[in-house]
Amino acid sequence: MSVALLFFDGIGIGENDPGKNPFAGYKSKFFRAFIDVNNFKAEFGGIIVPTDATLNFPGYPQSATGQTAIFTGVNAAEMMQGHINGLPTPTLRKVLLSESIFLKLKKLGKKATFANAYSKHYFEIRGEKLSATTYAVMASQIPFRWYDKELKEGKAVPADLTGEFLRKFYPDVKVIMPEESGKIIADLLCEYDFVMYEFPFTDEAGHNQDFELALKYIDRIERFLWSLLTNVDLDKHLVVLTSDHGNIEDLSTKTHTLNKVPTIIWGKGKEKVAQKIKSLLDITPAIIEYLTEQI
Ligand SMILES: [Zn+2]
Repeated sequence: MSVALLFFDGIGIGENDPGKNPFAGYKSKFFRAFIDVNNFKAEFGGIIVPTDATLNFPGYPQSATGQTAIFTGVNAAEMMQGHINGLPTPTLRKVLLSESIFLKLKKLGKKATFANAYSKHYFEIRGEKLSATTYAVMASQIPFRWYDKELKEGKAVPADLTGEFLRKFYPDVKVIMPEESGKIIADLLCEYDFVMYEFPFTDEAGHNQDFELALKYIDRIERFLWSLLTNVDLDKHLVVLTSDHGNIEDLSTKTHTLNKVPTIIWGKGKEKVAQKIKSLLDITPAIIEYLTEQI
């Protein structure tokens, strides 16, 4: 019984309007919920749970506070008295380092991993300006996966699901199909209690109001999910997809949106987990309760 948590930046539930929402134009097999369209079923028996991303604070939800909330269960917007964009601030880093889902699972004796492939260069150029997921992993001191080791061995996933982004910097990176990335996550789920993956690029396509790029990413995500869900034994494992705030589902605006985000849940015990999810704050507790068989 393992859990995969798939995090996609900036995906909300928007209108069923192909002029605004690339998911409507694409006819997604997974992101099928729209405002005023009561379809909460995704392919492979997935349950779509519209999830509140506002953290009970006015204004547009932002990445630093939203992601900290997802990966810790702590209301980061309340702590900061507002939504904080971009990368975690020193205060939010402390929350991630002391409350991260990876640390909580480690204390419970669970084996966890982050599937994304890193480069040493990322840490060298960024200093302390690291992503929320990176701090969440650092909290438990589990090893990172590297582009020049685990990725080459088929044991890590490129953040963009194909490796095209990494290849711009490292020409020896082999570009793979998104289906291969899905299979890698499925394989890791047999070895670990918890596997997390982050796709950060969707938010950028939303800010740029770039339909073509949005559709390219959605196609990649659909192929990745199809492969992952084909390869995972859904009678044994749980797959949870979520996001930090809306953005790409409304390309008529550059900004984030106030829309709910789709948490999609597949596999063993999905109904009970779905009942636990109302807001971003519920993701970490629900996964921990599931892995400790409290739900
Ligand atoms: Zn953004």
